Amino acid sequence: MPTSPQEAVRRQNLGALLRYVHLRGATSRAELTARLGLNRSTIGALTADLATAGLVDEGAPRETGRAGRPSLVVRPRSSRVYGYALSIEVDRLRAARVGLGGAILDSRTAQRPPGTEPAGAIGTLAALVHDMHRHTPAAGVLVGCGVAVTGMVRQADGTVRIHPQAGPAGETAGAALGNALGAALGHDRPPLVGDLADVAALAEHTRGAAAGFDNVLYLHGDAGIGAGIIAGGRLVAGHGGYGGEVGHMVVNPDGRPCGCGSRGCWETEIGERALLRNVGRDGATGRDAVLAVVEAALRGEPVAQAAVRHVADWLGFGVANLVNLFNPEAVVFGGSLRELYLADATHVRARLLRMALPVCREHLRLRTPVLGDDAPLVGAAELAFERLLADPLETADPADREFSAPA
Ligand SMILES: [Zn+2]
Repeated sequence: MPTSPQEAVRRQNLGALLRYVHLRGATSRAELTARLGLNRSTIGALTADLATAGLVDEGAPRETGRAGRPSLVVRPRSSRVYGYALSIEVDRLRAARVGLGGAILDSRTAQRPPGTEPAGAIGTLAALVHDMHRHTPAAGVLVGCGVAVTGMVRQADGTVRIHPQAGPAGETAGAALGNALGAALGHDRPPLVGDLADVAALAEHTRGAAAGFDNVLYLHGDAGIGAGIIAGGRLVAGHGGYGGEVGHMVVNPDGRPCGCGSRGCWETEIGERALLRNVGRDGATGRDAVLAVVEAALRGEPVAQAAVRHVADWLGFGVANLVNLFNPEAVVFGGSLRELYLADATHVRARLLRMALPVCREHLRLRTPVLGDDAPLVGAAELAFERLLADPLETADPADREFSAPA
C-alpha cells in the first residue's frame, strides 16, 4: 500500500524516538523535544502511539530535585519487548533474551565441542532458546533474533565460510546458518547473522566503550584474532562482507604457518595458541589457560612474563599499523586480548608511540569493553532490534509473534 509523505515522516519520527530511548534509557519529554528537534505536541503524539503499541510507557521521573511540574519520562518496555541473541564462540554457545533498551533478561550457556562446524551448533542453540521461551511471559513481543559467529560471515546470506579451527578446506559452502537456525527455532524470518567481532564492535559503539565515536577499531582475541572496524560511523564490510580479517594481516613473513595457509599472520604472534606455545603449553587453548599465563606473569614468573611481553610487542606493532590505516578515536581490546592488553598496557602504548604516525594517534583512546564478554550478545540483539527501530508499528503487532516453540 502506498504511504503518504506525512505517514512516512511519522514512521520515521516514531523510529527515531524509539531508537533514542532504546539507546539512552528513560528520557524526559523535554529532552526528547530538544534532541529530536520536534515540537512538544508531536513528541506527545508519537509517545502515545508507541505506548499504545506496548513499546514504551510513561511516568513521573524518580527524582527531579527541581521545583515545578516535572516533564514525563518515556521508558522502553524492556521486559515486554525483546529479541533473542545467540553467540557461537570457539568453545561455547550462548543464548540470551535481551529486552528493548539492551538489558539481558535471561541467558543460557552450553559447551561447544572443539573443532565442530557452526552448523553443528544449531540444535543446541535452538534448545537453549526454547528453554528460555518457556520462561517468557506470554504477553511479550518477540521482535527477532540475531547471531554472532566467530569466523567469517558473508553478509548477504549469513553463510559462514571458515572458522578458526578449519583451514580453507573447512569452508561450509552453501550452508546458510541463518536459514537453518530460523527453521530450528520456528521463526518465520531467519535470524540476522554477523561476524562476532563486527557484532561486538557494534555493541561497544552503540552503548559501550566506543559510544559517541565514529571511527573505532574493536579487536577480539580467541583462537584467532578478529576485528570490527567502524569508519565514518559505518562498519567496514568489504565487497563480500569478509573485511576486517586483521588476524591474517602478515606481520612476520618468516613467522609460523597459519591455519589460513599463509605464514606469519598476526594471530600466529598474538593469538591464544601463540601465547600458550611460548610458555611450553603447545596445543593448549581457551580463555582459562590464557588467564593462568597472565596471572603467572603478574606474579613475576619469567617465562610467563616473556610470553606476555611478546604478545604485547606484536599487539602494539599490529595496532600501530591499523591506527595508521584507519585513524580511529578508540581501540577496544576484547576477548582474551582484554587481559593480555591490561597485563602489559605500558608496552603496547610504547610500541604504538614509536610506530604510529602522531597525526593518526593524537586523539586515540585505548579501552577495554564496557560490556565485557556480553558485547557479542548485546550486539546480536541490536541486529534483532534493527527492524523494529526502522518501523516500530509495523513490527510490534503482538499477533506477529513469529515464534512457535515446539510443544
Ligand atoms: Zn592467516
